[in-house]
Amino acid sequence: MGKGSKAACKESGKVASSGGGKKKKMTTWQDEIAAAQPKLCISCEQMAGEIDKHGDGDAKVKWHRADRSRTSGEVYLTGDECYHCWDTRRRYFEDDRDTLNTKRKDNSSLDARYNCLRKDRVLKLGEHKHEEKKAADAWVAEIEAEFCEAFEEGAFYTLLRFCKSHKIKHSEDDNEDTLIRKIRRAWPSMGSRRTAS
Ligand SMILES: [Zn+2]
Repeated sequence: MGKGSKAACKESGKVASSGGGKKKKMTTWQDEIAAAQPKLCISCEQMAGEIDKHGDGDAKVKWHRADRSRTSGEVYLTGDECYHCWDTRRRYFEDDRDTLNTKRKDNSSLDARYNCLRKDRVLKLGEHKHEEKKAADAWVAEIEAEFCEAFEEGAFYTLLRFCKSHKIKHSEDDNEDTLIRKIRRAWPSMGSRRTAS
């Protein structure tokens, strides 16, 4: 026989802890996705289920597309992109996935901005929730304009603000030259091109 153990397993565990006995622990579609064979996200190059580099240490790379095999009943992941890459791209970028990924490879400041936006989504910080969706090229133009402004104003506080808002490692004690050096180290393509005047 050997049946029955599965059902017992579903009912056990988890329920005991926090009172409010309304929840039955059932296997959800999300649980099945989490248990499926992991796939690599081609946008952040992380495997589904591994600790997300943009998380707080516990968050795992989440996948949202999956299907169930008609023959084996097994759940398998579909698509090539994790949930947060899909979400970040759809929310902030007009480009299709492959175009955006190519442009990110070619431009480290765009890549840094993408990672910053993705991190904001993973951690649910909402710091960028008012950003408009735009094409990657428009993002690049905006980033370069911000940098030029900070750089040309030469205003220490503008540079400091730039470092903060772009999550560039710095110290409150850094002077202007040090901040500029750190910005350039973080984003090598920065300042090498001037925006059209
Ligand atoms: Zn991803």
